[in-house]
Amino acid sequence: MKLTILGNNGPYPVPGGACSGYLLESDSGDTTILIDCGTGVLANLMNADALDRLDAVVLTHLHYDHMSDLLPMQYAIQFHPRKHPLPVYAPMSPEPVRALLDAPCYDLWPAKDVTVGEMRVSFNPARHPVETNAVAVQCDGARFVFTGDSNTDALLELFCEGANLLLADAGLSEADWKPTAPHFSAALCGKLAHDAHCQRLLLTHFNPKYDPADLLDEARRHFPAAELARIGDAHYI
Ligand SMILES: [Zn+2]
Ligand SMILES: [Zn+2]
Repeated sequence: MKLTILGNNGPYPVPGGACSGYLLESDSGDTTILIDCGTGVLANLMNADALDRLDAVVLTHLHYDHMSDLLPMQYAIQFHPRKHPLPVYAPMSPEPVRALLDAPCYDLWPAKDVTVGEMRVSFNPARHPVETNAVAVQCDGARFVFTGDSNTDALLELFCEGANLLLADAGLSEADWKPTAPHFSAALCGKLAHDAHCQRLLLTHFNPKYDPADLLDEARRHFPAAELARIGDAHYI
């Protein structure tokens, strides 16, 4: 699989940046999905020339930094018509936000295990203030896991076990983290990748108030091979 980073901030972007958005393509190029579509992701998706190729969109949850660009994407699809509506797999709540996605361009489905072309997509509840799922994608003999927005959770650690690449929510610094927080700290992302025996770790969901280099230092104390998710970078899994 090929993972392209289309956004890496949360809950709002740095100047010129974008929030949560990750493009996954199978090795054959026959299957393409977008995981999350936050602020600024649509422009980067157009830059990757990928809108027409999308087989599905998967939303981890319905906070705006993970879904807001699906709203103008409806307009983009009207100008670049598809043969069929675009399947969108998303949590059912919060209902007022989910209702915003109800457009002729989209087929809305609950976030349950699903096969999209060559990809098997599965979900695991995350620890966050709204209904949120971590997402695993199995394809081409590899397994990719994205934590979504979450704090530590024993079942989530099991879900991450053995991932070839773990993309993790480093929304907090170690100093700002607490057990009831809505995000991991970067240090805990490193610990998760280590404890779950992941091959690679990419940090994401950078709050603009932090220097990502400091977050990377924290994570590398537990997982020396940790890297930052940078917009435009491609990773082969
Ligand atoms: Zn977020
Ligand atoms: Zn969130």
